[in-house]
Amino acid sequence: MKLKNKTNSIFIDGKWHSVDEQDTETVYNPATLEPITEVAYGGKAETEAAIQAASSAFKTWRDMTGRERSRILYKAHELMLEDADRLGEILTTEQGKPLKEAIGEVKGAAGFLLWYAEEASRAYGEWIPSSVKSKRLLVIPQPVGVVGAITPWNFPASMITRKIAPALAAGCAIVLKPAPETPLSAIEIVKILEQAGMPNGVVNLVTGDAEAIGNTMLESKDVRLMTFTGSTDVGKHLMRESADHVKKLSLELGGHAPIVVFDDADIDKAVSLALVSKFRNNGQTCICANRVYVHESVQDAFQEKLTEKVAELKIGDGTEEGVKLGPLINEQALQKVEKHLDNAVKNGAEVICGGDKWNGGLDGYFYQPTVLSNVTDDMLVMNEETFGPIMPVQVFNDEDAVIDKANDTDYGLAAYIFTETTSRAVRVSEKLDYGIVGVNDVTPAVAEAPFGGIKQSGVGKEGGHHGMDEFLEMKYVSMGIDN
Ligand code: ADP
Repeated sequence: MKLKNKTNSIFIDGKWHSVDEQDTETVYNPATLEPITEVAYGGKAETEAAIQAASSAFKTWRDMTGRERSRILYKAHELMLEDADRLGEILTTEQGKPLKEAIGEVKGAAGFLLWYAEEASRAYGEWIPSSVKSKRLLVIPQPVGVVGAITPWNFPASMITRKIAPALAAGCAIVLKPAPETPLSAIEIVKILEQAGMPNGVVNLVTGDAEAIGNTMLESKDVRLMTFTGSTDVGKHLMRESADHVKKLSLELGGHAPIVVFDDADIDKAVSLALVSKFRNNGQTCICANRVYVHESVQDAFQEKLTEKVAELKIGDGTEEGVKLGPLINEQALQKVEKHLDNAVKNGAEVICGGDKWNGGLDGYFYQPTVLSNVTDDMLVMNEETFGPIMPVQVFNDEDAVIDKANDTDYGLAAYIFTETTSRAVRVSEKLDYGIVGVNDVTPAVAEAPFGGIKQSGVGKEGGHHGMDEFLEMKYVSMGIDN
């Protein structure tokens, strides 16, 4: 996909700022390393202007009815679906994932607009029965105010709508900072909202210097909530720096998801689910499987079938037909995967398949889908997010022991169990210290359900009515009345 040499990427108070008048940075295609376009490299001044625009737009946006706000979100949903193929192609070009996955992501991203268009009219309050006859007690949900949203590159479309759709439905105004690797999907989403009739200043977009933009949001009294998806380190930084103004926070951070394949699992199903979990988006997903525990009685069958299927995965440019694994996002990502592999092999892991870079004639950051056995608990792959296509497999033989292992991490985002027994599914789900448990399901992220981690995987929920609660304050009104 060829775009113009330069693309406007800063949108404040309903106006696109001309990229010709700004510093720029280049966006690259991670499959070919070719430059796609240049976008504006904004910082403090642009962020301050965006916050100011959002603060003033908030005053009218919050006073519109939920129904009025939902009309714009519905319209944006329709526009996004109509354009899903083109948007998918842009997403693949900047991020690398296979086109089919990219189009699927765009449709999922539109799904958040639809869900919160529906929820916009359903921000219910409460009427609390008073213990005193002469009082009436009301709880009124009201939008928190201006929201600073910082999003990652692994899901350049859905991570944005998952944040801004509930915020907008609730009546908040937004300053959005997308990841520098993937600003193009963000630009398209903002254009869609503009086309759908979003009033000026309600949604603002600033690309550029992450630290300067983030710090300006943090330093502003007017930004009342920071919503962030990304690394745990940056999440902790935002949490610390939010203290001065006591901002609300919604953080979706890292994970280290275990998959547990029990002896009563359907092995064919387990293999195909494990493949999806590990290799979707090339393992660059905060809920993807990081480690797999397989019961000793099914280990041989699982490994044999898994190896067969992994060998069939086609690697390449995501726009090519049949490709299942695109490139990693950048050089650092590739280096991290190589470091995890080296560490595992040095400490005795066996490479069942893969185990090296892929050299298929493209310049991008490709790595072969890799399965490791003989892995031990102290290896990097078993503790840190690899964010790449390495699947370490360990054998277990006791339910309680494997639950302890699964829980033995500072993370607590998603965990998966494969079993055909209902009692086990319920029992183990309850004991796993995770915000999300998938039982024979590895794609739990949907618009209608609360997605979010515990422990160092984050605070708050995205999706479902819980996702909108993040952007609402419950104002309590106590009224004395004459009886
Ligand atoms: P990753 O390592 O997966 O890229 P990051 O947490 O670094 O994860 O990035 C997620 C988002 O956070 C991106 O939009 C990135 O630009 C942004 N970011 C990185 N550092 C900072 C920072 N110091 N302040 C605010 N945002 C930041």
